[in-house]
Amino acid sequence: MQEPEKFSAGARISRADALELESAPLFKLARLAASRRAGGGTAGYVVNRMINYSNVCAARCKFCAYHAKAGVVPPFRLSDGEIFDLCADAVERGGVQIMLQGGLHPDFTLEWAQRLLSRVKSAFPKLWLHVFSPSEIVWFARGAGVSIAEAVRRLKAAGADSVPGAADLLVERVRGELCPGKCSVGEWREVMRALAENSMSSSATMTFGMGETFAERIEHLDVVRGTQDETGVFKAFIAWPVSPERTGIERRVERAGAVEFLRTLAVARIYLDNIEHMQSGWLTEGLKVAEVALLFGADDVGGVLMDEMVVRAAGIDNRATAENMRAAIRSAGFRPRERGGLYETLREF
Ligand code: SF4
Repeated sequence: MQEPEKFSAGARISRADALELESAPLFKLARLAASRRAGGGTAGYVVNRMINYSNVCAARCKFCAYHAKAGVVPPFRLSDGEIFDLCADAVERGGVQIMLQGGLHPDFTLEWAQRLLSRVKSAFPKLWLHVFSPSEIVWFARGAGVSIAEAVRRLKAAGADSVPGAADLLVERVRGELCPGKCSVGEWREVMRALAENSMSSSATMTFGMGETFAERIEHLDVVRGTQDETGVFKAFIAWPVSPERTGIERRVERAGAVEFLRTLAVARIYLDNIEHMQSGWLTEGLKVAEVALLFGADDVGGVLMDEMVVRAAGIDNRATAENMRAAIRSAGFRPRERGGLYETLREF
C-alpha cells in the first residue's frame, strides 16, 4: 500500500494528520515509526536505581495506587541516611544513575532537597542524579516562596543533573478530573523552560489509558513537541499505559494492553520529530513487549530501576536485570548499548 507522502517522507505531521493514525493498521504504524527510529542497529539501556523516598502525598491522584491514602502501601518515609545508603549500594552494583521520586508533603522542602543532593553528589560525583518530577519541583518552589526558575537553579547548584518529565497527560480536562493537586500544564512547561535556562535535560512522558480520547493523546503530544521546539530539553520520550488496578479509576477504565501500547508508541514516534530517543516501557508491559516495541520506533529499553515501587503498588511486578535487557535487545535484532544519563554510549556489547 502506498503511504501518503506526509507520513513516509519523515516530515513534520500536523495534529489533523495525526488524528488519521487512530485507525491505521498496526503494521503500517510499525513501518512508519521504524522509519523514524533513532539508534541504527543498536538499542540502549541504563543501569539505574529508582528511590521512591516517601508515599505520603497531598496530591492523592485518582490513578495512583502508591500514595498512602490509597491504602495499598502503608505510609513510609526514607531517612536521608537510608537514601544515601541506597545510592552507595547502587554505585557498588554498577549503577550510573539514580532517580528520586516521592510524594508532595510539607516535610519535603527545597532546603531538604538541596541538602540531600549536595550530600549525595559530593560522595558520588559521577552518579547521574535524575531527580524530582515537575510536580515535586513546583511543590518545593511554593513551599519556599520562590519562583520555579529559582527552585530549579538551586537544585542544579546542589547537584541535580536532569529531571524526569513525569507529565501524566498534559490535558487540563484530564488533570482537573484526576490529578488537580499536581502541577498545571503551564507550570510543567515553566519547569522545562527553567531546565533549559540551567542547561539541564529531561525526558517527556505520557501516561495514557485514563479514559481520554485519541484527540487528547495527540493534544498531549503536541504540548510535548511545542515545548521541545522551545526548549530542546528532552532527551527521550516514554509512554506507558496507566495501571488502573487498586486505584480510583479501576471501575472506570480497563487496562489498555500491549497492542494499544505499541500503537501509542508508534504514533508518538511519528509525531515527535524533534525528540531523538524513544523508550519502550518494560516496567508496566514487561520485557517481551518492550522487545517488540523496538520494532515500533523505540530505541531504548529504559532503566533496570532496582526497587521501583509506584507501579508495583498497582500489583504489577516486572523486574529486569541488565543481562535480561541485553537479551531482549539481541532477541529483537539489535546490539545492546549501555548508556548514561545523557544517552551517551558507555559501552556496546
Ligand atoms: S502520582 Fe505522584 S503526586 Fe499523584 S498521588 Fe501518586 S505520588 Fe502523589
